[in-house]
Amino acid sequence: MTSISTRFFFAVCLSTTLCLPLNAQLSESLTGLDATDSVVDAIYAISDADLRVMDVLDELSNGIGSRLTSSKNLTEACNWAQAKFTAFGLSDSRLEQWGTFPVGFDRRLSVGAMTSPSKLELSFNTNAWTPGTDGKVSGPAIVAPQTEEELTALTGKLSNAWILASTSKYTPRFNNLEGVNLRDRFGAMCVAEGYAGVVKPCGKSGLLLTRGRYSIDIDNLPQHVNITLLREQFSNIFQLTKDGADVQLEFDIDQTFTAGPIPQFNVLAEIPGTDLANEIVIVGGHIDSWDGARGAQDNGTGTSTTLEAARILKKTIDELGVQPRRTIRFMLWSGEEQGLLGSRAYIEQHPAENEVISAVLVHDGGTNTCSGIQATPDLEPLFKEAFGPIIAHTADNVDEDLRFRLVPVRRLPRGIGSDHDSYLRVGVPGFFWEQNGDANYTYIHHTQYDTIDEVVPEYQLASVRVIASGAWRVANMNQALPRDVLASSGNSRRPQHDALGVFLGDGMTVDDLVKGGLAERAGIKAGDVLLQIGSVKLEKQSDLRKVLSDKEKQRVVTWLHQGKEMTATFDWKEDKILKTN
Ligand SMILES: [Zn+2]
Repeated sequence: MTSISTRFFFAVCLSTTLCLPLNAQLSESLTGLDATDSVVDAIYAISDADLRVMDVLDELSNGIGSRLTSSKNLTEACNWAQAKFTAFGLSDSRLEQWGTFPVGFDRRLSVGAMTSPSKLELSFNTNAWTPGTDGKVSGPAIVAPQTEEELTALTGKLSNAWILASTSKYTPRFNNLEGVNLRDRFGAMCVAEGYAGVVKPCGKSGLLLTRGRYSIDIDNLPQHVNITLLREQFSNIFQLTKDGADVQLEFDIDQTFTAGPIPQFNVLAEIPGTDLANEIVIVGGHIDSWDGARGAQDNGTGTSTTLEAARILKKTIDELGVQPRRTIRFMLWSGEEQGLLGSRAYIEQHPAENEVISAVLVHDGGTNTCSGIQATPDLEPLFKEAFGPIIAHTADNVDEDLRFRLVPVRRLPRGIGSDHDSYLRVGVPGFFWEQNGDANYTYIHHTQYDTIDEVVPEYQLASVRVIASGAWRVANMNQALPRDVLASSGNSRRPQHDALGVFLGDGMTVDDLVKGGLAERAGIKAGDVLLQIGSVKLEKQSDLRKVLSDKEKQRVVTWLHQGKEMTATFDWKEDKILKTN
């Protein structure tokens, strides 16, 4: 940290002396920026006359489609984005490999219907990295047994059967086929008779959420088809079956696995700086998505506004014949949905670069518009100047959501869960734009509704202007952003006992671990299942949030590792593991 402040200090002195006229040095400006800015004015004018952000989003989310990390669609999207940056005239547009995924996964056709006693097209999903069907599979709907008598009565009836499991309590279990309890024996019977798959209802909200665990082995792929059905449809089918009707279901789900390692990339491109060219301001978002819909909101909006901001900023500065002082980098990360993998790996691969990054501004909050930025007391006077022209341009907007504002915070918060967190973790000021508007993020986020019709063009336009103008202004400040605005020594605004250091996938299954986090140090591995913390049994992710939010300093954590229960005592106050069994 010392080296950073020293170098930035020299940068400030040099640039002030060399680059600014004497009156600028004597002005009251803290940042060296003027209150008005012809580049920002031109960004607003050019984006009025020539805006392509919705076309870009259409190409991405409809032309290419969803972009699961490890899928062919994501590779196509990364190549497409790089070609766009090149076509806009940006410098050093490139793909950079950050790692590999063990198995590739792609979806194509995915249709399902009730074919008897009446016809009904079904709305459903399956998790990523799980199998589809072997072509069209038709068979009877069977209600999972709850008693010995019901189990016995199903003997010989399970060939190609679709098992209706209204609660997980009666779902057939396949990982203990020799087991003696009802679920184990039902699982064994399903396998022996050649059942088709399990059908469950989605949560009460009616949202079909897509998740998945990517750390799988091509030689030991998931075998069982698990379908989550729209709740109302499930209830109908369940009742019909209970009432004794001959209910037939048919699913044709084409999902393919590809043997890895599958290389994964981030996309980068730059507008080079001038006197402070070795320092960097990053704007971007993640280009990958879940694959239950089109990834239009999450994060097609962040990707398309980043691309459009790059095009418009480049066009503007070319027309005006100016260049930013710092290098502006546009960055599209992948692997975000599996735990910020692309940004974290990039940072690990370029440790020296962190010292010269002034700020990282991330758009990943969906369709609502980027219309604010968090400012600590130290940042506020700087940001008043940096974002002043944007505030002025939007001040009279009748829609208050579109008026840009500074949002006071004591420290920059960590744990929002996007790529700026990766930078905060290593001490680089990272920002998640404050996003305002009418769209319901939760309704769209990772659900069947993440399609372009949910995206508001007016919000997209406002975001493009904010991103392009914000990048330009922050890149031209005399100083890099101060680093003491971060929560100190790696602590987040949230207290430490709030963090276990895991990224969860399906249910309580650990998808990935925070490097050096408590869970990793306790020996928890990807694929393990969290069972209990203290006396609280963990059934769903909200149980975990609840138990972690109380103020206990030490607790015993229990998890399942390859069928074996493990425990460790976590000490959140001391940030260490006391004992492991
Ligand atoms: Zn996202």
